[in-house]
Amino acid sequence: MAATDVKFPAALEERTIDEERLHRKQQLAAAFRLFGRFGFDEGVAGHITARDPEHTDMFWVNPFGRSFKQMHVSDLILVNHEGAVVQGDAPVNQAAFAIHSQVHAARPDVVAAAHSHSIYGKSWSALGRLLDPITQDSCAFYEDHALFDDFTGVVLDVEEGKRIGAALGEGKAVILRNHGLLTVGHSVEEAAWWFITMERTCQAQLLAEAAGTPVLIDAECASATARQVGSHAAGWFSFQPLWDVITAEQPDLFD
Ligand SMILES: [Zn+2]
Repeated sequence: MAATDVKFPAALEERTIDEERLHRKQQLAAAFRLFGRFGFDEGVAGHITARDPEHTDMFWVNPFGRSFKQMHVSDLILVNHEGAVVQGDAPVNQAAFAIHSQVHAARPDVVAAAHSHSIYGKSWSALGRLLDPITQDSCAFYEDHALFDDFTGVVLDVEEGKRIGAALGEGKAVILRNHGLLTVGHSVEEAAWWFITMERTCQAQLLAEAAGTPVLIDAECASATARQVGSHAAGWFSFQPLWDVITAEQPDLFD
């Protein structure tokens, strides 16, 4: 079976609202543990959000100041469209609210969004350029990511979140200049995978350009490869082995 034959999970699994909420929270906790393992944390920066399946203008997010590496399902907080914490007693990162509330509002199809200050993503972001199709993996982002070509300090204003949402457009990712990466998906699994592979794609292009002049994949081939490796189903599927490993090794994340 090819990755392109994988059916989107929603088509396979019928879940109740409660089951879907728990599923999203478990995937979110696992994604944080993976982000921690990969070293995507920088102090207290970074957030991954999952839209609530019932209250679709609210999202689940990490509490401000808790390590990605120690995230549990029970730690996640629910934030409404005004930035108030309506479930959980920990504070929300104001930047998480300002950015993610507007991305979720701009993209009703998006279930999850991921952002952190990972080292290769923020290094690449300083160049103010889109990623080029230089590897099979980078084709997942071919004509499907954008550049937010502005930086005005920590994003605390929802108006700037709106501009980031507008820059993202219909794509799966946006490079925030002088800041880092932000990815979205139709599932937590997909958004987390795009972040992980985009970070590594930035690393690969930085390495290749440091060593020489990369050969670009031609446009027609890059588009065809994007359809193979860049679909919603492919993003979801690529996360599955990471889920298997992190949940086997760190089952306390389910607490
Ligand atoms: Zn940030």
